[in-house]
Amino acid sequence: MTILVTGGAGYIGSHAVRALQQGGFAVVVLDNLVYGHASIAETLAVPLVQGQVGDRALLDQLLSGEHPACAGEPVQAVLHFAAYAYVGESMSDPARYYRNNLGDSLVLLEALVAEGRRRGGDPLPLVFSSTCATYGIPAQDQIPIREDCPQRPINPYGRSKWMVEQLLGDFGAAYGLPSVIFRYFNAAGADPAGDLGEDHDPETHLIPLTLDAITGRRDHLKIFGNDYPTPDGTCIRDYIHVIDLAEAHLLGLRKLLAEGGQHVYNLGTGHGASVQDVISAAQAVTSRGLQTYVAERRAGDPPMLVATAEKAQRELSWRPRYGELRMILEHAWVWHQRRFGQP
Ligand code: UDP
Repeated sequence: MTILVTGGAGYIGSHAVRALQQGGFAVVVLDNLVYGHASIAETLAVPLVQGQVGDRALLDQLLSGEHPACAGEPVQAVLHFAAYAYVGESMSDPARYYRNNLGDSLVLLEALVAEGRRRGGDPLPLVFSSTCATYGIPAQDQIPIREDCPQRPINPYGRSKWMVEQLLGDFGAAYGLPSVIFRYFNAAGADPAGDLGEDHDPETHLIPLTLDAITGRRDHLKIFGNDYPTPDGTCIRDYIHVIDLAEAHLLGLRKLLAEGGQHVYNLGTGHGASVQDVISAAQAVTSRGLQTYVAERRAGDPPMLVATAEKAQRELSWRPRYGELRMILEHAWVWHQRRFGQP
């Protein structure tokens, strides 16, 4: 069975491609390679089509199996990771975010409906990458965050993802489009095999930046605020191992293929770690120190985002394998040394 993975050359998408392959699926990747890496096609031995999700003619070719990359096999479902995900950039250039994340997703949903009709049936199912950024700054009494927590995104990135969630609701009601929405908390870590991992340019995420400061690729790590209402004053996040995210996609896909419907799940560990906790864990794992200094708060950072993922555990039998921060850091460290070398 062939699955189309948009954004499969990116960080989370590439790990999901491997999970699908290990689960016995054939995979075709569609990626515009703006932030993704072409080399992943080789690492994963997967056909990679460079293109835009908003290219309807290309989508039709891929979904129907007419595109050469599909080797004659029509696509049975889509995992949709492709998106721009820099919050700051989304505030300075919202048009780019709405066009890419929202506009292109609308084209994809229409193509799924059309292809289903062409086959004389329901729209093809979709697994959609959403984010805890759709919750905005949740009230203290809403933490840990459940899926029914009010969604009030505070930047165009979060709103673009929230809007696609709304589209999926409407397309489900009107056309019967089956979907699973996953709201990720902080994706982190790397494949323990050491050949896949986080490689953003520019890098803005805490764990790779901490490792950069440890290896000397950067002089220091800035801690964005230490006066938050948290035990050590730094922000708390729910870091979830990318392999556990990938595994959830496999389970979500199987559920959709078996029973259809519309589902939404948080993906997190249920445990929070502060910026200071991450720094300490990185020092412990690498046995090295780093320079840090406290900088201004970063605009739009909520003090605390921690999921409850009980719904995914209950309905998908999803069990995070690498729930401990230390394992996330260990795997990120192996990848980081391989990708960037040691000083
Ligand atoms: N952070 C930090 N210094 C950095 C990058 C991030 O202190 O150089 C903090 C950030 O304020 C947040 C946490 O680390 O509280 C996680 O940030 P990241 O950008 O990794 O993920 P986000 O939570 O924004 O999705």
